[in-house]
Order: sequence, then C-alpha cells, then structure tokens
Amino acid sequence: MSATAEIITIGDEILYGQTLDTNSHWISGELDQIDIKVIRKTTVPDLEDQILSAFEEAEKRADIILITGGLGPTNDDLTKPTLAKYFSVELEMNQAALAEITERYERAGWELNELNRGQAIQPIGSTKITNDLGTAPGIWLERNNTIFISMPGVPFEMKGMMEKEILPKLKSRFVKGKIYHKIIRTGGIPESKLAEKLQDWEGNLPSHIKLAYLPTLAQVKLRLTATGSDMVQLENDVEEQISLCMPLIEKYVYATGNIELEERVGQLLREQNKTIACAESCTGGYLSHLITSVPGSSDYFQGSYVAYSYDIKEKALQVDHEILETLGAVSEEVVIQMAENIRKVFDTTIGVSLSGIAGPGGGTEDKPVGTVWIAYSDGEKTEAKKFVFAKDRKLNIQLSAMVALNMVRSNLMRIS
Ligand code: AMP
Ligand code: MG
Repeated sequence: MSATAEIITIGDEILYGQTLDTNSHWISGELDQIDIKVIRKTTVPDLEDQILSAFEEAEKRADIILITGGLGPTNDDLTKPTLAKYFSVELEMNQAALAEITERYERAGWELNELNRGQAIQPIGSTKITNDLGTAPGIWLERNNTIFISMPGVPFEMKGMMEKEILPKLKSRFVKGKIYHKIIRTGGIPESKLAEKLQDWEGNLPSHIKLAYLPTLAQVKLRLTATGSDMVQLENDVEEQISLCMPLIEKYVYATGNIELEERVGQLLREQNKTIACAESCTGGYLSHLITSVPGSSDYFQGSYVAYSYDIKEKALQVDHEILETLGAVSEEVVIQMAENIRKVFDTTIGVSLSGIAGPGGGTEDKPVGTVWIAYSDGEKTEAKKFVFAKDRKLNIQLSAMVALNMVRSNLMRIS
C-alpha cells in the first residue's frame, strides 16, 4: 500500500484568482514519481478557522500533509501560529533555524531585524527545514503517524526545499525498494493517437513497469516507472520496453531522458554543422527566444527578423507585394517566401518562418483565430504547413513556436 498525502495551499490570492496554484500541481507530480498517492488538494484563505478545519480533515485521511503559503513574517501569515494551536503547543525560538537565518543575512550583508529573527520561531517539537533560497524556514511536525510539512508559498523556495530535504526524507521513509524512471519525449502527435499506437505494447508491459502520458505544449512525454529491488535490473527492463515500443513511434520521438526540444534541435544542428535563421511574424520572436535559451546556440543560430507588418515583410524579406495583397500575410505563399528569403539574407542552411492570427481579434471565417502557417526551407526542399491552434493568444504563440521547432527537428532527423 502506498502512503497517502494531501496538499493544502493557503492564501487569499489563490482563491481570488490572482495567483494560479502551481505549487500543488508541482508537488503532485513529484510525489507521484515516488509512488506517494495524493488523495486530496485543498485551498483555504488566510483565516485561522478555515486553516484549522483543513488540518483536521486532512489528518483523518492522509499520512502526509503538505502545506504551502502563509509562512512569511507578516500579520497575514498565519500558518505557524495556527499549526502551534492545532498541535496545542507553544511557539519557541528554534536555535538551528536562527543560526541559518543569521548566517544567510550575514552572507548577504543585510541587517537582521526582529521580524527576520521571528522567522526562526517554530512550534515546540517541530524540526526546521532549511530554506536555501529564502528566509522563512519550513516546518516538519509529526504526531500519531501523521506528518505535517509547512513550506513557503513562493514556488522556487518551496521547490528548493522539497528537492533538497523533504522528498529525500519522504523517499527513505515511505518508498520500499528502488524506483527507476525514464521519459520518452515525442512531438507532432496528439496523446490519443499515441495511445492508439501503443495500445498493445502498453497492454503487455510487465506489472512492475507503469506508463504515464504527460502532455505538455505540442508534446507528449511518456514516463516509464519501474519498481523493484535491483536498480540495474530495473534499468535493463525499462530499456527493453523502450526498444520494443520505439519502432511503433520512432517518427515522433525526439529524445529520451532529460532534454528539451530546443536543446535537441541545437544538438542536431551542431552535429550536422548546420545553421538556422527565423522569420517570425505572429510569434514576435518567441521561436528565436526558445532557440537562444540553449547555451551555446550561437554555434548554429545566426539571427532572426521579426517581420510583423506587411511593409517589413516586403522590405526586409522581399515578400511579393501582389501575393501579400491578394492572399494576405497568413498564407502558404507568404511563409514560403519568408523562409526561403531569410535563409538567403542570413546565409544559413535552414530558414524557418511563421505567420498566423494569434488572436483574440483578427480572425475571419476562412482564417479563424489560431490559424498559423509555418514553413521550413533548407535549399533542397521547402515545405509549409497550416495549423489551427487555439483561441488564446499566448497559447497560440507558444504552440506555433514548438510546432516549428518540431518541424525543424523532424527534417533534421530526415523523417518528415
Ligand atoms: P506566502 O508564503 O503565503 O507569503 O506566499 C508568497 C507568494 O507565493 C504569494 O504572494 C504568491 O505569489 C506565491 N504563492 C503562494 N501560494 C502559491 C501557490 N499555491 N502556487 C503558486 N504560487 C503561490
Ligand atoms: Mg500568503
């Protein structure tokens, strides 16, 4: 039987729609990796009675209760006094926590005031959790086989604490045996199609290997998790399964393990000694941003034009005036000219272009919001594809860039 967990996020801002609760999403994913079952998530306001009742209910159900938010030094931060009240204990200065906070302030050259010292005050009987990335330490409290873990709301502080201290502790306590994960990363195929192709293979997976579909932007990651007692054996078992499923989906797999699509594209360009330039319209430079977020991208990325207006498409990229006027900027002919000409202007192996209607306005009946044309050109071939993505502007920008990257990737792997 797996251990069970509940997540309680505390904060008015989450309930009023000002902050999206990304903390519980992230924590859930991490706990799933170590086979701890999250059975409920609750969000409560910065109000003592609401926090107390959330603690009380969660304690009845779960082995582990993970709390984020309300740990700061200000008056609206109630988690600490409320935890003390719930456990019927006083608050006291935790010397280990105070030493860490003092050291942190000294290192940064900051003055330590009473409010800061107050952050080291914890319920009696609790253990501090080191916060390397902020000033509020976390709290670990236990009674009757239930663990309460309180962390700051700031996502990167919470993640730092989880990764460094909490997850290893939970793992050593609750995870019997070994766990091995491997991720197969795919692009250019929706989750449902992938599932169809993998149906038989999935049905024949040995019982100690589990498969999870993790869809993200224009990608689906397949996570294989093997549990057992011998790590080398688990690795071998997973590799064997990967070699069995690969022929079914090879075309869509851009990598296995921890590598993002933009990194993979970079690897392929470097291996093949190729260079790239982009002509971006609707993405406003986002594709170039992704490409250049990879260290060392100057080896293969020459530059880009953000050619947003008709005028600049004509002047900077020599797109045909007639074609722009008759077919519009969101058309096959225009993206083809953009991709071919950016290649020439920047003297690169590959040119990529995008033009579309990101929304929310500007859609028409035959070109609704989300319509995006993307072209790839490498001197030997030029191809253009039309997509109709979403209604949301940001999403359209992100999806367009990811799909364009995948188009480059599949051409570099010669499987398009
Ligand atoms: P707090 O620890 O309650 O002072 O929270 C500090 C900040 O962290 C808040 O102002 C939010 O911006 C952010 N935050 C709090 N809870 C969450 C959550 N569940 N998910 C994402 N961000 C959060
Ligand atoms: Mg708060």
